[in-house]
Amino acid sequence: MCTQEVPRPYRRDAAPAPESLQQAGEQPDGGKPRPGFAPAPLRLPVPVYDNHTHFDFDDSSLGHQVGLKEALDAAEAVGVAGAVQVGCDLASSRFTVEAVDADPRVLGAVAIHPNDAPELAGASTADGVSALDAALAEIDALAAHPRIRAIGETGLDYFRTGPEGVAGQKYSFRRHIEIAKKRSLALQIHDRDAHSDVVDVLREEGAPSCVVFHCFSGDAELAKICNENGWYMSFSGTLTFKNAKNLREALAVADPALLLVETDAPFLTPHPHRGRPNASYMLPYTVQSMGQLLGYELADLGELLRANTEAVYGSWDA
Ligand SMILES: [Zn+2]
Repeated sequence: MCTQEVPRPYRRDAAPAPESLQQAGEQPDGGKPRPGFAPAPLRLPVPVYDNHTHFDFDDSSLGHQVGLKEALDAAEAVGVAGAVQVGCDLASSRFTVEAVDADPRVLGAVAIHPNDAPELAGASTADGVSALDAALAEIDALAAHPRIRAIGETGLDYFRTGPEGVAGQKYSFRRHIEIAKKRSLALQIHDRDAHSDVVDVLREEGAPSCVVFHCFSGDAELAKICNENGWYMSFSGTLTFKNAKNLREALAVADPALLLVETDAPFLTPHPHRGRPNASYMLPYTVQSMGQLLGYELADLGELLRANTEAVYGSWDA
């Protein structure tokens, strides 16, 4: 797979960087330089979409920011036809709306991340309104854009947030479910160490018609629950990690009609490039791995993934 070069915009020498950024990239903490981006994978035979990525996160390891168009061009060159750009707070959700207007290869999702919800829930605006309610009102307004096709990422994260944040996270998750249902949009779920509570909240509220477990992190048991409910499972680079036996067991029992694929870039870089930053052009590494595990030809898997993705988010051409 590693026969190709690092795409041009992802090379360290791609653009002259301001001195401050260069220093940040080369000596992030006064220690060793950060590893650069990985070579491009071989091109997929059928175009596939990255259904969860963050184009707005900075590429400080490069010393320059890769532009939206360059990132999408690099992805398209290896058969990644487009992506769902995901907002996690108000700034990145506003960026998401700009991104869907800027390039037809982008659809969007907007939300307040569960790890940000507790702090906002405990704060107030100048008018005395809860800061979380004010933020959710803006998320709802941003979601009116016709190319915003999902509410997310929302859900529960018990890994990074302690018990004191559970009430705020659950409140926020419930409000996001409400917005998704009101606007007939898909719901992208962030579930970290919180499987059973995520399922409980979905059942209590009544799930929207399209639910996606982004970066699926459950086991075969959760995959069976997803199968029963028609909830989509989006696999990321974690599927390729050596210690991810539970994910491979989940993939083996997952209904093929509910499979999606994503990068969650710049995080979760697939094996054998763990430790390097991730980007949408890296998606084929995970697709390859899925194909091998399922025993599918890449072209057949690509057709399946594209059809599933369009069933959730609609057409990129509409
Ligand atoms: Zn994400």
